[in-house]
Amino acid sequence: MIFTDTHTHLYLDAFDADRDLMINRAFGQGIGYMLLPNINSQSIAPMLGLCDKYPANIFPMMGLHPTDVKADYKNELEIVETWFSKRKFYAVGEIGIDLYWDKTFVEEQKIALKAQIALAKKHRLPIVLHSRDSFDEIFEVITETIDENLTGVFHCFTGNRQQAEKIIGWGFKLGIGGVLTFKNSGLDKAIADIPLQHIILETDSPFLAPNPYRGKRNESSYLRLVAEKLAEIKQTDIAEIAAITTKNAIDLFHFPVKNVE
Ligand SMILES: [Zn+2]
Repeated sequence: MIFTDTHTHLYLDAFDADRDLMINRAFGQGIGYMLLPNINSQSIAPMLGLCDKYPANIFPMMGLHPTDVKADYKNELEIVETWFSKRKFYAVGEIGIDLYWDKTFVEEQKIALKAQIALAKKHRLPIVLHSRDSFDEIFEVITETIDENLTGVFHCFTGNRQQAEKIIGWGFKLGIGGVLTFKNSGLDKAIADIPLQHIILETDSPFLAPNPYRGKRNESSYLRLVAEKLAEIKQTDIAEIAAITTKNAIDLFHFPVKNVE
């Protein structure tokens, strides 16, 4: 049984004291693969350092996070763009629009999102979308830019059933994490009739820890709690959840695998 944490920020300071122990706890829980979304130019070195330390298990993405789209965003985008010619990345991420924290740079966020979708098309990579209080804005951009090659995931999906259907209609995946375990999130109902083929699992560590760790530091080993909840909702066993969601992740990101059984 091998799980894939498709969205985990293992390189952040929150793990400085016990990073290797924490990664080994994840291996111990069957989390065989972890994908690291980039945030900004400062996070690139620690992220790549970690991928180089665990080259068979941990894989990088490259992108500029929407909350880091500020006045100097053109500079940041240039750095992102340059990296694609320097090494292999498995997605353009994380990118998107976030209107929860700050609306000052909403226009710049849209420009940065479109520029990074263009990079994804150029390098034939999936996009990893961060959407917070911005479903309509992101839907508008995707509607404008979608073509037969553009694919990706709505990371940390917490929307309703109609939004879920729209997303899978584009061939995008739903990234499901700890929110699924929260009481009254409504996410269980939103995805009740969505086939597992459209779902990948994620923790978004160190954020959004699932119950019973809600509010505490999240880590990739807790992915198992999300998988257990999903198995309950889909009335299946956790082995099937592992098999299908890891296959979906491989299909989307094309990271190298040894043997997934
Ligand atoms: Zn993230």
